[in-house]
Amino acid sequence: MSVKKGRVFSGARPTGRQHLGNYLGAIKNYVAMQDDYECVYCIVDIHALTTVEDTFNLRQNTYDMALDWLAAGIRPEETIMFVQSQVPQVTELHTFLSMVAPLGKLTDLPTFKEKIRENPNNVNYGLVGYPVLMTADIVLYQSNLVPVGIDQAPHIEFARELVRSFNYRYNSDALIEPQMKNTIIPKVLGIDGVNKMGKSLNNHIELASTPEETQKRISKMVTDPQRIRRDDPGDPDVCNVFSMHKIFSPAGEVEMINVECRRAGIGCVECKKRFAANLNDHLAPFRKKRIELDANPQAVWDILHDGAKRARVIADQTMAKVRAAIQLPL
Ligand code: SF4
Repeated sequence: MSVKKGRVFSGARPTGRQHLGNYLGAIKNYVAMQDDYECVYCIVDIHALTTVEDTFNLRQNTYDMALDWLAAGIRPEETIMFVQSQVPQVTELHTFLSMVAPLGKLTDLPTFKEKIRENPNNVNYGLVGYPVLMTADIVLYQSNLVPVGIDQAPHIEFARELVRSFNYRYNSDALIEPQMKNTIIPKVLGIDGVNKMGKSLNNHIELASTPEETQKRISKMVTDPQRIRRDDPGDPDVCNVFSMHKIFSPAGEVEMINVECRRAGIGCVECKKRFAANLNDHLAPFRKKRIELDANPQAVWDILHDGAKRARVIADQTMAKVRAAIQLPL
């Protein structure tokens, strides 16, 4: 087995069945990082409670997301994959960290401001402490690396400062200061061709859809807005379908579309059909594995329970150091 370069932590809210945006923005990278790093991947259900009021689908969403991660290639025998709430030590560490977390900085973070803009009627205490809980997630598992895109950098910088404050306050080295693993997280546009792909806008393409559903969804994709008629030449550079071709289609086909679109040699209907066929081919092994896994839901929960058990072992080690540093009674 190869020597790993460090421990990576990443978490995502339980949003249920995953879509292409989740795949290209996170899951693909999660799978790839397993080759070089010890990976800890967490479904952060406690974080979800800061904005979700109705938890009716929470458990199902957790299951569906785990299913998609596993089908996409997360290897639970080596990677620790688990649900945040099943390691309660994280809330204890969150409390201890909150004592050294400056409130002014928390309310100044761009995501907090964004959340209160989005949910003015639900500005709760958990929302303010979100980056503190996120820090607890990272450091509880003694992770040295967190893959982040440029927009999440302030949170990791906050986490690093919080760790330094904690270690300084208690004159200890109980917590490891995490480093950012700069990652290019592509902005994947939805089928509307304008907004980021997401379920709330219903502009997404689900990974687990059938090939027919996928084809139907792709047929609705917005293309070059200037190309009205079949014989109008198009501009692939402003077309979201072409962006997807560049990811999922063979190089020769991408080149052909790049040329033919510009001289109206190919129509958007055919172009989309080709993309749908290539995407369906790409997702075929994922879908096959997902169906197999879904035949035994208990096995999926067992994987998550086993991950939580392994995560708790690391969490207990960290909390022993934290308690000793604070000088809490042993
Ligand atoms: Fe976009 Fe393809 Fe239509 Fe060109 S032919 S505008 S690349 S969908």
